[in-house]
This record gives sequence, C-alpha cells and structure tokens, in this order.
Amino acid sequence: MWIDTHCHLDAHEFGNESVAQAALAGAQGVGMIVIPAVERANFSIVSQLAASIDNGCYALGIHPIYVPNASEDDLRVLREQVAAAMADPRFVALGEIGLDFFIPMLTEPAMREKQVFFFREQLKIAREFGLPVLMHVRRSQDVILKHVRQIPPAGGIAHAFNGSDQQAKTYIDLGFKLGFGGAMTFTRALQIRRMAAELPLDAIVLETDAPDISPAWIHPGRNSPDQIPRIGAVLAELRGITLEQVAAATTANARAALPRL
Ligand SMILES: [Zn+2]
Repeated sequence: MWIDTHCHLDAHEFGNESVAQAALAGAQGVGMIVIPAVERANFSIVSQLAASIDNGCYALGIHPIYVPNASEDDLRVLREQVAAAMADPRFVALGEIGLDFFIPMLTEPAMREKQVFFFREQLKIAREFGLPVLMHVRRSQDVILKHVRQIPPAGGIAHAFNGSDQQAKTYIDLGFKLGFGGAMTFTRALQIRRMAAELPLDAIVLETDAPDISPAWIHPGRNSPDQIPRIGAVLAELRGITLEQVAAATTANARAALPRL
C-alpha cells in the first residue's frame, strides 16, 4: 500500500473529478490521501471530500499564500474547527502552514511579519491539541526551523523538501519527516535526487502535491494522486531497493509522522 501525504484533491483543477481521481489512485494501491486545507473557506470542503472517499483524510490550516487575505478571526475559527475535528478519525494534522519567502508579494516586511504571526499562532494550536503539522517551506528553511524550535509541535512533515544536508538533519533531529515527490523525477534535480538516495529511509515520505509538482512524465500537465507508485519507483531506483521496500517504508513513515492516519 501507498500513502500520498500531500494532495490538494479539492483544487479547482480537478473540477468534478476529485472523487474519481481518489478511486483511480485507490486502484493503484494508494490506500490513503492526505488533503490539506489552505484557507478558512475550504475547511469544510476538505473534511467533506475526505469523508466522501474510501481513502481520504484531511488537515486544517491556513497556507502562507492565503495569509494576505486571512484575518485573526480565521485563527479563532481554525481553533474551533480543530477542536471539533479531534472527534473525527479522518482528521490527521494541522496544515498546510508555513512560510513562503519566494513569492515577491509575500516577502515585503509587513507581509513577512504577518506570515510569521500566522505560522506561530498555528504552531500554538498544533501544540494545544498534540497535532503534527504539514509545512510549506519555501526559501524559509532556517526561519521555519527557528520557530518550530521555539514552539515545537508533535512532529509532522516538511513538504516538498528542498533544503541542504544540514537542514535535513535538523528537521529529522526535531522529529520531522521530509516529503519527496515529482521534483525528484527530473534527472537534472541533482541535489534532491542525491538526498532522496542518501537520507535515512525512515525520514522519507511520498507526496504528489497534486495538482502541482507534476513528475517528469506528465510535466507540465496536471499531477494526480495515482502517480504515487510511479514516483515511488523512482525512489526505489535511486536507492537501489525494491518497490515493495519503498512502499512499506514510506507507508510506515507516514503513519509515524501522522499517528492519527
Ligand atoms: Zn500544498
């Protein structure tokens, strides 16, 4: 069995095919798909979508790209909905949260500050409920690490990992797993492929980030969760191990990072 630890199955790119895409992935052995929320407006959408498919679970959180339009009241609503979702076995994490210092509009001083505020407040909610976090880390590796050291959540995943060896080691030491997906399928992605090959296997989880980060054989088309086994095959090849070993290890790692799975 496989787990897609990060898939925006509710994204508009899937139109009315979200449920069919989940079934297609299920037929490929993807037994679980983690659907993160990105803003208050889709909290109920991700929970309902997860409930409407056999292999669905979800996270609640405010994504850094949605921080410009978010208000402090959204944090109050998030906390309330997290408290209610603790009774829902399909609810597995706080996310997607993080810091994006790549998109120019998000890097102006006031917006940097607002992003950090929302990130820290959401880390506090994760701590309050003992939840792991799904983190978006873009040009912000060391700032993220500083804040998770100060307000440590119950582990989680640094999604679409693209940092240095030292940063990888620090995340692992702090109890996080690192998400690998479509990016490692490009032969020119030397650094990511080397890390996928050399990091301890128990630090790695698989993800699609669908509809984004499409693998080389689809790029630039729409990514989908049924691609997980083929992405896993790339990891198996890079590490010189079998597909079965990759499936078993990454599934166990996902369950370790997200114990409610
Ligand atoms: Zn995402």
